[in-house]
Amino acid sequence: MTETTNALDLSYEEWTEVCTKRWELPRYRAEQLCQWIYGKKVFNVHEMTNLSKELRERLVYELLILPPITVREDESKDGTRKFLFQLYDGEQIESVLIPQGSHSTACISSQVGCPLACSFCATGQSGFSRNLSAGEIVGQLLAIEKRMGRDVENVVYMGMGEPLLNTAAVLKSIEILHSPKMRNLGARHITISTSGIVPGILELAEFHIPVRLSVSLHAPNDMLRGKLMPVNRKYPLGPLVDALKAYWRATGERITIEYVMLQKVNDEPEHAYETAALLSGMSVYVNLIPYNPIAIIRPGDKGYSRSSAGRVKEFSSILSKLGIEN
Ligand code: SF4
Repeated sequence: MTETTNALDLSYEEWTEVCTKRWELPRYRAEQLCQWIYGKKVFNVHEMTNLSKELRERLVYELLILPPITVREDESKDGTRKFLFQLYDGEQIESVLIPQGSHSTACISSQVGCPLACSFCATGQSGFSRNLSAGEIVGQLLAIEKRMGRDVENVVYMGMGEPLLNTAAVLKSIEILHSPKMRNLGARHITISTSGIVPGILELAEFHIPVRLSVSLHAPNDMLRGKLMPVNRKYPLGPLVDALKAYWRATGERITIEYVMLQKVNDEPEHAYETAALLSGMSVYVNLIPYNPIAIIRPGDKGYSRSSAGRVKEFSSILSKLGIEN
C-alpha cells in the first residue's frame, strides 16, 4: 500500500501484509482494523478506540480510508433511496437502496457511466468515463450502511456500468464483501447483473465464490437484440446461451433473466414463444420489467414506451404455459 492507496481496495491478505510487514504490527491488528471499517463502519482512525493513542496517531498519516461522499440523496414514496456519490477524483456514480419488507438490497455501480450504449438506457447514453476500483465498489455499500445505521442484506451489481467489463475489480470486491474477516456477506446475497459478456460469465462460473447471476436478455433473437443492445453484435445469443449453461452446470444456481417490456417492440406473443425456446433446459426465472421512459434520446431515436398491462400479462402467461417461471 502506498501513501495514496484507498484502504478499502485491500483484500484481507493485503491488510495482513500491510500490518505485519509495513507497519510491523501483529496480525490481529488487521482483523481489528477490518472490524472497525466493515463491521462498525468507522472510517476515522481517531474513533478506533481499541487501538492505543500512539498507534492511532501513527496510522492517521498512513491509512487512507475513502468511502464515496454523498452529494445527493432522494427517497421515493415506496422507500427506495437513490444516492449520488462523488469519488476522490470528482467523478459521480449512483447507488440505490431498495427496501423489501424487513430486508433491503443495495444496487451498486461498477463503472462511471457505461460503454455499452443500450438504446433504452440513460446510463448508456451518457457515455463511459472509467472503471471503479474494488474499494470504490465496496465503498458504496459501506457509505449506505453507515448512513442507514444498519447492515444491508443483499447486494446487486446493477447500478451504472457493466460489471463483467471490469472483472478484476469486481471479483476482488466480491472477495472483500464475502470474507468473514471483512463484510461477511453470503455468496447467495450477492448478484452480478450483466448484459451478456460471455468471457466474464465463463470466468464467473469458475470463480471460487458462487454468487448469483442475472442476465439482461431483453430480446429473444439476434436481429432485435442487436438493435436494442449493441453488445449482442460481439456476443450473440448462441454463445451467450452456451455460457449461461456452463455457469448453470458449474454452480447449480438458477439464473435470473431480465426482460424490459417495450410496447410493440419486444412484447409480441411470438417473442414470448422464442424466449421460452431459447431458455428451455436451464433453471431460470424471467423478470419482466416495466420500462421507465428516459429523457435523453439520441438524434433519430423515437424512444420507447412501457408495455400495457394486458400485453405483459399475455407474455407472462405464455412463458408460464411453457414452463418458464416469471
Ligand atoms: Fe445501461 Fe446496463 Fe446497457 Fe450499460 S449494460 S447501457 S448500464 S443497460
